[in-house]
Amino acid sequence: MNGKGEVRTRRALAQHWLKSESALDSIVRAARCTKDDRVLEIGPGTGVLTRRILPLVEALISVEIDRDLCKMLVKEFGKRENFLLLQGDFLELDVESQLGNFEKFQNQNKVVANIPYNITGPIIEKLLGTIANPSLRPYELIVLLIQKEVAERIVAKPGSRTFGALTVRVQYLAECEYICTVPASSFHPAPKVDSAVVKLVPRQLERQASDPKFLETIVKLGFSAKRKMLRNNLQSIIERDELTTVLEGLHINPQARGEDVGVEQWVQLSNELKEKAKQDNASEDDRLLEAKGHDRFDDSDIDAIDEDDV
Ligand code: SAH
Repeated sequence: MNGKGEVRTRRALAQHWLKSESALDSIVRAARCTKDDRVLEIGPGTGVLTRRILPLVEALISVEIDRDLCKMLVKEFGKRENFLLLQGDFLELDVESQLGNFEKFQNQNKVVANIPYNITGPIIEKLLGTIANPSLRPYELIVLLIQKEVAERIVAKPGSRTFGALTVRVQYLAECEYICTVPASSFHPAPKVDSAVVKLVPRQLERQASDPKFLETIVKLGFSAKRKMLRNNLQSIIERDELTTVLEGLHINPQARGEDVGVEQWVQLSNELKEKAKQDNASEDDRLLEAKGHDRFDDSDIDAIDEDDV
């Protein structure tokens, strides 16, 4: 606490306290919490969202890194039977293994959180997995408050400038919905950027890419030089002319760029190219080895779009 009775904030931990009741309403409404839910919250902070979720659900487990905040949270919520607090770095913590003796908190089915924005990519990756290694036990529903710009990338439609590798990676794994914008002034202290609530519903992945690792590789390559045509970005995998034929076969404009191709089409493209690689066998395998896969939800996806046009 500082002299004014406010909880002090640590910038390095991306601490911005949400003070908008309507934003809290939107988050809770999108999460459709019921007494059957076991919810995971990341970064409860001073507990504004915790306070809202707790009365609605069977169990709430919150993970907070800041020791002082944990003390406050224990003071306020410690006696509630359906509340469990884990102190630690969410990215490092194996939450399930910490719950050995707390059967009631195991197998959370939802995630509801206003997360620290500096680690948005890694958090989403931990929640959903990657294209090559999707989460084996996906959540039913994930509702997050994140930076607006990242939310726009996650829900982007093909052809939009915000469509990128992050879009394909997240939309492959989950259905994504933009719920609402939350202006910077809804927080204390106000962050530099606006925020947005997003809802992610992890998909059933049976009918997806025949080789997810390969899809990951071509997505990485396909967006490696932004605003370049796919047939240039994918040259290390397939000859330009050959790719043109494949794209035409899939009714994709041969001059398409990564951002013009929707997630379903990326999956089809991956399956087609894989099939081709099988036919052309040995020489293709060598080339694929050179084209190293990349599966991180890292910040390179959040860079400004450059003007590397062809
Ligand atoms: N949910 C609160 C606070 C959001 S600010 C609110 O809406 O007001 C982000 C919170 O995440 C802070 O409490 C911060 O201490 C916590 N945090 C930051 N990095 C973390 C990490 N790696 N693991 C868990 N919590 C983290």
